[in-house]
Amino acid sequence: MNKFEQLGLQAEIVNAVNDMGFEAPSEVQEQAIPILLDQETDLVALAQTGTGKTAAFGFPLIQKININSKKTQGLILSPTRELCLQITNELKNYAKYLPQLNVVAIYGGASISDQERQIKRGAQIIVATPGRMKDMVGRRMIDISEIDYCILDEADEMLNMGFYEDITDILSHTPKEKKTWLFSATMPKEVASIAKKFMSNPVEITVGTKNEGAKNVSHEYYVSPGRDRYQALKRLADANPDIFSVIFCRTKRDTQKVAEKLIEDGYSAAAIHGDLSQNQRDLVMKSFRTRQIQMLVATDVAARGIDVDDITHVINYQLPDEIETYTHRSGRTGRAGKSGVSMVIVSKSEVRKIKSIERIIKQSFEQKDIPSGEEICQVQLFHLANDIKDTKINHEIDKFLPQLEEILQDFSKEELIKKFFSVEFTRFHNYYKDATDLNAKAQNDSFSDDDNSTRYFINIGAKDGFDWMSLKDFLKEHLDLGRDGVSRVDVKDSFSFFNTETSEKDKVLAAFENYQHEGRSVNVEITKNTGGGRKSKGRKGGGGGRRRNDFQNKNSGGGRKSPRRENSDSKGGSRKSNIKSSINRRKRKK
Ligand code: ADP
Ligand code: MG
Repeated sequence: MNKFEQLGLQAEIVNAVNDMGFEAPSEVQEQAIPILLDQETDLVALAQTGTGKTAAFGFPLIQKININSKKTQGLILSPTRELCLQITNELKNYAKYLPQLNVVAIYGGASISDQERQIKRGAQIIVATPGRMKDMVGRRMIDISEIDYCILDEADEMLNMGFYEDITDILSHTPKEKKTWLFSATMPKEVASIAKKFMSNPVEITVGTKNEGAKNVSHEYYVSPGRDRYQALKRLADANPDIFSVIFCRTKRDTQKVAEKLIEDGYSAAAIHGDLSQNQRDLVMKSFRTRQIQMLVATDVAARGIDVDDITHVINYQLPDEIETYTHRSGRTGRAGKSGVSMVIVSKSEVRKIKSIERIIKQSFEQKDIPSGEEICQVQLFHLANDIKDTKINHEIDKFLPQLEEILQDFSKEELIKKFFSVEFTRFHNYYKDATDLNAKAQNDSFSDDDNSTRYFINIGAKDGFDWMSLKDFLKEHLDLGRDGVSRVDVKDSFSFFNTETSEKDKVLAAFENYQHEGRSVNVEITKNTGGGRKSKGRKGGGGGRRRNDFQNKNSGGGRKSPRRENSDSKGGSRKSNIKSSINRRKRKK
């Protein structure tokens, strides 16, 4: 028997589910469907975005509807027009073998009389946004006095958006005996109070942190030598002119550093991490929400509070230490029914971590090339052309037109276009004309370019049964260094590497003095400094220093200015660090 049949679903639905290619129910579906089918009960279900909540209420709802009656029997309230349409579509797909079932979407910004007409034709299920629904119920265009089921989908979002009054109003027009099913990703006290007020003894189900990511997020990775990470980040940003993104770093320090570099290079960026005061964080978040900040560089902890829709890209500047964290990161995009991209910049040696993440999120990554300078110039050129096409003419210019025409009179239209575009384009072109290929070719570039971090060699590895996660756990425990104390664990066959803050150096070395692991004496050495360290493949003694110089030259040398930077020379020498300066910087164009 098919897994969906086992939950008690009828053949018509199971067939539709098969057509949709669902193989097995998700956790929230597995828990909610049998309860909703078997019991007439209120229900509160908590599960993250992308866990399949629509089907969790959609399947049982469809099965419970009497399709021989045209009366409205089910009402689904959902926060946005997009979600409304998405749910409606999904329900229509689930019910494709039940042609008598009518599902109608009700939402603002579209003709109310068209919607009324659709309702009149008989809608057993209505999917609605609260505002328009309240309006139509108030005008007696919709009768919900005999519904059996009311579903509050994304309840937390609806309350966030200020729909409390509308929802209460709508519910007051529904019968007392109806059953209410509430679905939400989180349970803030507003949701709890709705549940308390409008539901009686609801069955509660919570789906633990679900590992599968949202289905509308695509995952990409870019392989770049560690030292080029920042340059790669800039390329990714430049190749996506409308980017509105969260960039994740592993430590507060990296977060601050990357944000500062971006700001220096003329991007509208800011950092958010635990060392900022609440007030500063609020400021940053406000600027991000209003899009004055285009790239928000965040630590995982600080990002927990980010509830901004429309984020186009999540960029994993560094992979998180715990792969599970990746789901939380990528879940920042692809919200509210939009699609999103989660990008990861990795060094060659980290590529296998991508495989582990794929297993967890049950989605595959696409390996992509870091865009070349030429590609970026092209993208920017056409972006500019489209911007110009969509720009509303400012008629303040009209009065200068005769003089402007006089200045430009000798040029043909073609020449004018070329000149005009050159204004913007040359900036990018000059910056990128000698740009190198940043895609990693080399063997192993994962070592640190970070001054405050020390890298160690340890003579245990995969042969001793460790993978990077278990070794990390082992090190954290043995060194008593706390959650983020050990990073960049890289397990080789018979040895491994890892990093800690340089200040912990003595502690680390002391901890492994005379230490035995399963009968073998464990040997830990510092590898980055010349002299003592054992060398890894392909790395020369003084390499760290040389590379670091390369890194600096790339960023500041040769008079190369970042393309985004306007008036880069007018700024005085002293740059106010972080937030304020970034907020006041260039506003996002659109
Ligand atoms: P949520 O409401 O929890 O955010 P959705 O109901 O929108 O999640 O589902 C997210 C995506 O997962 C949708 O594209 C949906 O078609 C798909 N989906 C839902 N259930 C399953 C399943 N059992 N197997 C495969 N895909 C599923
Ligand atoms: Mg949903």
